Amino acid sequence: MRVHELSAAECWEVLSRTHVGRLACARADQPYVVPISFSYDVLANCIFSFSAVGKKVDWMRENPKVCLEVEEVADRFNWTTIVVLGRYDEIGDTPDERAVRRRALELFEERSRWWFPAIAKIGSEERPAVVVYRIHVDSVSGRRTEQTDT
Ligand SMILES: Cc1cc2nc3c(=O)[nH]c(=O)nc-3n(C[C@H](O)[C@H](O)[C@H](O)COP(=O)(O)OP(=O)(O)OC[C@H]3O[C@@H](n4cnc5c(N)ncnc54)[C@H](O)[C@@H]3O)c2cc1C
Repeated sequence: MRVHELSAAECWEVLSRTHVGRLACARADQPYVVPISFSYDVLANCIFSFSAVGKKVDWMRENPKVCLEVEEVADRFNWTTIVVLGRYDEIGDTPDERAVRRRALELFEERSRWWFPAIAKIGSEERPAVVVYRIHVDSVSGRRTEQTDT
C-alpha cells in the first residue's frame, strides 16, 4: 500500500460529494472538534454550513481560523482524507449577503432535512438562534491510499 497526494481538483471532487466532516476551532490555546454537515461550493471555493449558536460559533467568532477534516474510510488500507484550512465568515442578512445566503440554501436543499441535527439541541424547547456561515478555503490537501503488490 502507498499513500499519494491528491491534486487540488481531486480534493474539490471529494469535497463536492461528501457532506460530513470534522470542524476544528480553537480559543485560548484550546482546540475543539465537532462533526458537522456542510456543502462545498466549487465555483466560490468555499464551504457552507448551518448551526445553532453554541460553543463552536462563539469560538469561531472570536478566532475565525478553522480546520475541516473530511474522510472516506473503508478500512486502514483504503481511505481518502482531505484537510482544509480556512476562515469562518458568518453570512448576515444585508442586501450584499443575501445572494450568498441564497446560494448556501440552494446547496443545503440538495440534502433532505438539511437543518438536522444542527438545531436538534438536547433538551432545548426554545427556538435556538441560528447562523449560516461559510469557510473561505485558504489551503486544501488530500491523501489517498493506493494498492500495490507489496
Ligand atoms: C453527522 C453529524 C452531522 C452534524 N451536522 C451538524 C451541522 O451541520 N451543524 C451543526 O451545528 N451541528 C451539527 N452536528 C452536531 C454537532 O456535532 C454539535 O453537537 C452541535 O453543533 C453542537 O455544537 P456546539 O459547539 O454548539 O455545542 P454546544 O451545544 O454549545 O455544547 C457544548 C458542549 O457540548 C459538547 N458537545 C457538543 N457537541 C458534541 C458532540 N457532537 N459530541 C460530544 N460532545 C459534544 C462539547 O464538549 C461542549 O463542551 C452534527 C453531528 C453529527 C454527528
